[in-house]
Formats: sequence, structure tokens, C-alpha cells
Amino acid sequence: MIPRIDVRSAIARKQFSEELIFEYGADWSLLDIPFVSFSSPVCVTLRYEILENDDVEITGQMRFSLKGECSRCLSDAEQSFTAELDALFVMGESDGESYGYRNGVIFLEEFLRDSLMVALPPRLLCGNCSASDGENE
Ligand SMILES: [Zn+2]
Repeated sequence: MIPRIDVRSAIARKQFSEELIFEYGADWSLLDIPFVSFSSPVCVTLRYEILENDDVEITGQMRFSLKGECSRCLSDAEQSFTAELDALFVMGESDGESYGYRNGVIFLEEFLRDSLMVALPPRLLCGNCSASDGENE
């Protein structure tokens, strides 16, 4: 479940920052490596901070695992990934660089989807192949 951040009621409670920990099932359509799937939910640890102008800064991390055939040798592969999260939500419309939010509530879906897309690797390699890959570089 992806929580929403109720900025208005957080301000009313004078809780200007908070840590949220949750996990959710990733959208499989984001993944386009052949014969690879998510082998865990996406685990998110994030912290929001409501700034004086009501913009909300979000930082944190997302973790997920992929499992399937090694993109090079086709043996079984499983790997965990961690990505940093960092975004600014501004009241009203998105300005292209930050996300917008309305009615005092932040929905995280689009931001998490974008962050996950950036974090997904172009391919999955097994232990052997990623070791030899490192040597070639
Ligand atoms: Zn391999």
C-alpha cells in the first residue's frame, strides 16, 4: 500500500516531518528485461519535510529485487537494488522539475513510478557475469 501524505493535517498537528516506511507491489509493466520479474515488493523508507512555504521535500530510499534469467548466460540470477529518492512537491501544478499537489494531499504514485523507472537496470546479470563484467571495465 502506498500511503498518501496529508500535508494539511500534518501542519495542523505541527508535525512538519515524519518518516514513512511501507512496501508495495511494483507495476510489472515497467520492467522490460526478458524473463525477469520482481521477486520482492518494493520497500520504501522516506522522510517528508514540510517547508515554510508549504512545499514538501521528500528524501529516502527504495529497495527491490529482480529475479530471472541472466541477460548474458541465461542461468538463474537474482539481484537487489537500492535507489535514492529525492523530490520536491509544490502546491498546485507541477513546474516540470517538481511534482504538484492539490487540496493539501500528496499522492506518491507518480513519483514512485518515475523513481523506479530510473532505478531499473537495463539488464540482469548473475554473480559470475557481473563479476567478469566488472573486470572488463
Ligand atoms: Zn550470467
